[in-house]
Amino acid sequence: MNNCVFCKIITGALPATKVYEDDETVAFLDINPVNKGHTLVIPKKHVDSFMEAGTAEIRAVMTTSQRVATAVLLATGAEGFNLSLNNGRAAGQVIFHWHMHLVPRFEHDGLKLWAQGKYEEGEMDELAAKIKEVFK
Ligand code: AMP
Ligand code: ZN
Repeated sequence: MNNCVFCKIITGALPATKVYEDDETVAFLDINPVNKGHTLVIPKKHVDSFMEAGTAEIRAVMTTSQRVATAVLLATGAEGFNLSLNNGRAAGQVIFHWHMHLVPRFEHDGLKLWAQGKYEEGEMDELAAKIKEVFK
């Protein structure tokens, strides 16, 4: 590691506006919020991405995400939230220490997170078969 910005936030070597901390996780406000109250939830153990996380880290981060979501909804008056992660450069991951984005949402806040497309005839079944093959 450890030129990792988020590891430095965990140790306090870099400042952050922390809103929650326990033995396994930290949550702090994103410096460039999608909506105000946008919070990042991270495991204290460094893992580059979700795909390297073990079940203990996943359990801890998701549990904290749910707790922090309750607090962020109450504090911001948000009516909903998006909980998401960017996995890999192609998906927009910039910081390679796994983090969940918790983004408070309001009716008519104008955010459109992604545009949806359509499948060609038969394409859906073909792709589903390929995905299921990996589990065999
Ligand atoms: P991602 O694109 O999923 O890797 O998201 C990285 C997020 O970290 C972005 O939304 C940044 O605004 C946020 N970020 C980067 N550096 C800091 C920092 N020092 N404190 C708080 N948020 C940060
Ligand atoms: Zn790290």
